[in-house]
Amino acid sequence: MQPAPEQSMKGRRRLPLHTQIFLGLIGGAMAGISVNILLGRRPEVEGFVRMVTEPIGQIFLRMLIMVVVPLVFASLALGVAGLGDLRKLGRIGVKTLLYFLLVTTLAVTIGLILVNVIRPGEGLPEQVKAQLLETYRGQTAETLGQAGRTRFGIQTLVDIVPRNPIAAAVQGDMLGIIFFALMFGIALTFLPASRAQPVMAVLSGVGEAMVVLIDLAMKLAPFGVAALIFSVTARFGFDLLAKLGVYVLTVVLGLAIHQFGVYSILVRVFARLNPWHFFSAIRTVMITAFSTSSSSATLPTTMRISEENLGIPREITGFVLPLGATMNMNGTALFEGVTVLFLAQVFGVELSLSAQLIVIVMSVLTAIGAAGVPGGSLPLLILVLQTVGVPGEGIAIILGVDRLLDMCRTTLNVTGDVTAAAFVARSEGYLLTPLPQVAESAAEMERLEPEGEKRW
Ligand code: ASP
Repeated sequence: MQPAPEQSMKGRRRLPLHTQIFLGLIGGAMAGISVNILLGRRPEVEGFVRMVTEPIGQIFLRMLIMVVVPLVFASLALGVAGLGDLRKLGRIGVKTLLYFLLVTTLAVTIGLILVNVIRPGEGLPEQVKAQLLETYRGQTAETLGQAGRTRFGIQTLVDIVPRNPIAAAVQGDMLGIIFFALMFGIALTFLPASRAQPVMAVLSGVGEAMVVLIDLAMKLAPFGVAALIFSVTARFGFDLLAKLGVYVLTVVLGLAIHQFGVYSILVRVFARLNPWHFFSAIRTVMITAFSTSSSSATLPTTMRISEENLGIPREITGFVLPLGATMNMNGTALFEGVTVLFLAQVFGVELSLSAQLIVIVMSVLTAIGAAGVPGGSLPLLILVLQTVGVPGEGIAIILGVDRLLDMCRTTLNVTGDVTAAAFVARSEGYLLTPLPQVAESAAEMERLEPEGEKRW
């Protein structure tokens, strides 16, 4: 008789993968914080992080990221070709983009209300401000340089259409890849079935192989997550948390309201899901986003878990989630709004109601343009600051706590993508099934699904 999925050969119960990842997160954080408090910024700690935990974390991250380009291309092209109906594609596209825009605007609005009420920038002592501007001067210059090279405006729209799809893939230009995959999928629907079928079979095979790769990468997740969190917490300037505490709390409170308040209502009303079941079903996604600070790196996990644990069909996840990982950043927009107003308060720049409306619009637009990588929104945040007359150099004040905020806002970004996919699926008439305890890995899926009945 086969051993039960969660039993090892010796008959000992093995912890489910999501529990192992959670333990990795807690263990890594506790170890990192202890080292930070007990040993401080000793060279040995820096050496250990640089030689041991950072490489382990990076290997895990890269195992996830390397899957993204082929996965997005295969799933999107196949999804569109499989729909075979361009009207349905247009309907899903419009619904998805409208949802992204409305929910992101709601997120910034929550952030702006909080920052106007709490006014975290007014209590920041002058000498803390001067000290932070000095400490992070180098890093700030680097980010300002990136902001100078960032093209934003009508060119952003033009850039969606890649000159060369291979170059887009090489540069990780997600919108370019998405655009080409969409067009490729549409082209397939115009071919006679005898020509389209072999291409679709190859895409399907590529997709299946990527799922196996994600599965392998996720087996490393407990260690990868622990290593990533250890690297961040061991180096983190916890003293900064006290100095910038009110600002950090404002951002985190806004993110929490959106994450647990707004999303609970949205999944209840639009996807008819019990919020508790929803969050429980996607906990691995949230932990991966939190520890990697990257929507792109989390995308393969987001897609798999949304299909397996929520029952969202692949034609929807393949379309909504890659778009969401690039365009739908609710947490980033909220963070940008709060930060611009916080820095305006610190620098004594009075922002009128119309200036704040510009902040909302710019935060939504720049969140769409931000790359789904750690700190991806920082160069664009500088653009928003400059638009409303707050010095871009002011970003130095928050750089020291940005990684922590990035972890939190990325979790919101990715959760928002899943709520969008759930909404679109439900609105297209699919019944969703939150099954938090279903198979943790493709291997387990194999055992549960009869041979030959794969999702890909
Ligand atoms: N790290 C964020 C993400 O990947 C982007 C950002 O806000 O910097 O979603």
